[in-house]
Amino acid sequence: MKDKISEEIDLLKDDLVKIAKQIFELAELSYQEVESSQLLARFLRENGFSVELGTAGLETSFIAVAGRGKPKIALLAEYDALPSIGHACGHNMIGTMSCGAAVGLKKALEDLPFTLVVVGCPAEERGAGKKDLIRAGVFKDVDVAMMIHPASMSTGFDIAYAIRRYKIEFFGRSAHAAADPSKGVNALDAIVLLFSSIGLLRQQLPEKVRIHGIITNGGQSFNTIPEYTSAELGLRALKMEEVDSLEAKLRSLVQGACDMTGCTSKITVEEEMPEVYVNVPLAKALEENYRLVGEKVSMRTYEQGVGSTDMGAVTQVVPAIHAYVNITAEKTIPTHTKEFAQAANSDYGYGAMIRATKALALTVYDLVSKDDLFAQVREYFINRRREF
Ligand SMILES: [Zn+2]
Ligand SMILES: [Zn+2]
Repeated sequence: MKDKISEEIDLLKDDLVKIAKQIFELAELSYQEVESSQLLARFLRENGFSVELGTAGLETSFIAVAGRGKPKIALLAEYDALPSIGHACGHNMIGTMSCGAAVGLKKALEDLPFTLVVVGCPAEERGAGKKDLIRAGVFKDVDVAMMIHPASMSTGFDIAYAIRRYKIEFFGRSAHAAADPSKGVNALDAIVLLFSSIGLLRQQLPEKVRIHGIITNGGQSFNTIPEYTSAELGLRALKMEEVDSLEAKLRSLVQGACDMTGCTSKITVEEEMPEVYVNVPLAKALEENYRLVGEKVSMRTYEQGVGSTDMGAVTQVVPAIHAYVNITAEKTIPTHTKEFAQAANSDYGYGAMIRATKALALTVYDLVSKDDLFAQVREYFINRRREF
């Protein structure tokens, strides 16, 4: 059966490469992926999936379902691009791989004895579409979720930061900067003190945490003592619990800046995403299938560079993996660069995309045909949940 699934995906190759190229050319930004999402939805509908567009009130999301009964396995599609550098994160391939795997499985197995769902997830780059989909209950009865992201290595594992993003505001009192400065309470001083103290704190921070940000309002006029300033800051650590303890430090620095200047402050949590919790049995199963389709597997390491993803939230609610496929051949090319965008539209990249599509489909097949794998995946997830 695994050969048959691979053969069906080989037959889809031209269609899949065409779709990935079209999405690459469209390069639609987060929440604006109208045509990209419709291309994928149409491909699924034409191949017998029932498709609902606009899930969770998001214009560019979709859910496509085939088969019936348990387990219910979700393959996740992303398709948003970055401003000015386009598909420099390779999301033109993510949706294509999940849709290709789903259609390949449906063709090979015909009457699916389980439920296969492709979830079209808007806005990974700027936003967190998957969190809206979780809130809308899309993953409530899902047993396993998977996706593969382009990279410079192929692995079932991931390391991603938990992140919390803040808006920080300081409130002072305006005064003429020349005629009456002593009457003012300087909100710019407060924000400068905050950034300086964060810089000093860095030396005492543990390894593998990040604090970064910008001043979004630095004052109203050069000749007026600023009455209002604001900043946007992100805290990242490998676990959300660590972010919590960093936050306590950040709050004391903000209070310190207020004490020194006489300002008041407001801290607002704008967004947060947990770390990716890798389901190890599932990651290993994917790697085995990578080897089966001739894709070389290598380790995911911290030194390769670590970011954050809204897939982290999905991995906390269902057993899941956020895997990677090497689209850059021998070279290591960081994502979010023009060079990576070229790899995401290259012959080598598309060859890797097809191998990954097969490995993804074969892993779904393992889950529904090997009872022990499904049990291990569930058990691994439940054990971690008990830790909280
Ligand atoms: Zn990205
Ligand atoms: Zn990405």
